[in-house]
Amino acid sequence: MSDRTKQLQDLDRRYVWHPFTQMSDWEAEPPIVIERGEGSWLIDTDGNRYLDGVASMWTNVHGHCRKELNEALQAQVDKLEHSTLLGLAGEQSILLAEQLVAITPEGMDKVFYSDNGSTAVEVGLKMAFQYQQHRGAVNRKKFITFRHAYHGDTLGAVSVGGIDAYHEIFRPLLFTTIQAPAPYCYRCEMGENDPATCGMSCLKELGRLMAEHGHEVAGVVMEPLVQGAGGMIVHPAGFLKGVRDLCNIHGILLILDEVATGFGRTGSMFACQREGVTPDIMALSKGITAGYLPLAATMTTRAVYDAFLGQYRELKSFFHGHTFTGNPLACAVALASLELFKKDNLLVNLAAKIAYLEERLVGMSQLSHVGNVRSCGMVGGIELVRERSTREAYPWEEKVGVQVCQEARRHGLFLRPLGNIIVIFPPLAITPDELTFLCDVVEAAIRTVTEG
Ligand SMILES: *Cc1c(COP(=O)(O)O)cnc(C)c1O
Repeated sequence: MSDRTKQLQDLDRRYVWHPFTQMSDWEAEPPIVIERGEGSWLIDTDGNRYLDGVASMWTNVHGHCRKELNEALQAQVDKLEHSTLLGLAGEQSILLAEQLVAITPEGMDKVFYSDNGSTAVEVGLKMAFQYQQHRGAVNRKKFITFRHAYHGDTLGAVSVGGIDAYHEIFRPLLFTTIQAPAPYCYRCEMGENDPATCGMSCLKELGRLMAEHGHEVAGVVMEPLVQGAGGMIVHPAGFLKGVRDLCNIHGILLILDEVATGFGRTGSMFACQREGVTPDIMALSKGITAGYLPLAATMTTRAVYDAFLGQYRELKSFFHGHTFTGNPLACAVALASLELFKKDNLLVNLAAKIAYLEERLVGMSQLSHVGNVRSCGMVGGIELVRERSTREAYPWEEKVGVQVCQEARRHGLFLRPLGNIIVIFPPLAITPDELTFLCDVVEAAIRTVTEG
């Protein structure tokens, strides 16, 4: 290890507080210090290479340091680094809005920018709430949320979250919601073991909640097809469509959080397109700049937008905005990323990799300590259990997921687990050989830790 690496490690432990991290564990081990990126690989200050198995927190699409994206960023920085959208329009944010409207479902006509996934969701919540007020539905002040949901870490986003380990401590600061069960067939709270019946039971319960509370509900917030941070929980086909239909019956807005699923992750550009669903409000972030810069967009329909129009003195403006809204550098990279989707024929080429990942996961489902595997596009989740027959979980304190990821790291693969669920979420541009390597290392690491 070089002196420079040691020095950076020391400084990190002295000054940097890492997110979602028990810092006393962190301080006990010298961290890997990443210096460079190349395609699907991250390279540390000593030249060690790690395959980026989590696409740098689910953001990376075309690989690291992609020439075309670097050039777009360089070209923009020589023209303009930032100018505000409060009182001015911007070339790049205009062009990107046009593209976003073109690639999202018919009906998503307006783009409100912010800079991360949590704010994209917050904007969606406030937009839905204020919309209901403007249209005279003054009692529609609540939101229906789902168990296991994750929508970000600011207080509004936490309010609509459903992961007790992260969210419970903040409960006194949060607004209350009406929580519906999510189809988590592997640990079904509805007592169902078959995915389709599990989905039906959850829809039935959602319908019951809406019949009871519908008149006071502004919107339903959900992650379409797969609940990410909750454990890569994949919903049965038709569930999203069922939620949309129930929202229509009860006059409730559907707010889809596509922060993790958007931009090709599930195999189509947006997850909702897989079920032909158009939301009323849609939150986008993570993949939007292909992992380059913070940017988010909350999209909505003409109908929602129109409810905010009026005389200045009516105070119907949407009173929300962030300093770096519509940043030109981020928008320029986002535009270049959409070009690359076309140039690389990315979504078409993804199909074979998705099929391979699925096949390997099915293979891993036979391992003696794997309780369940699931996948949705280029997302995989492998749930480790102490006892396969009873699906008895490993006690979370044993950190079996963490151990598997540490073992993978020794073999050149960077992963981050969600409890005892191993998450596979590589850059979409990963090559078939790299994907093979990733699956080989994951499988070997699970065996070493759980059978060794
Ligand atoms: C990551 C994530 C968020 C939060 O995004 P941040 O940029 O971390 O604030 C919101 N929703 C979903 C589904 C996410 O995966």
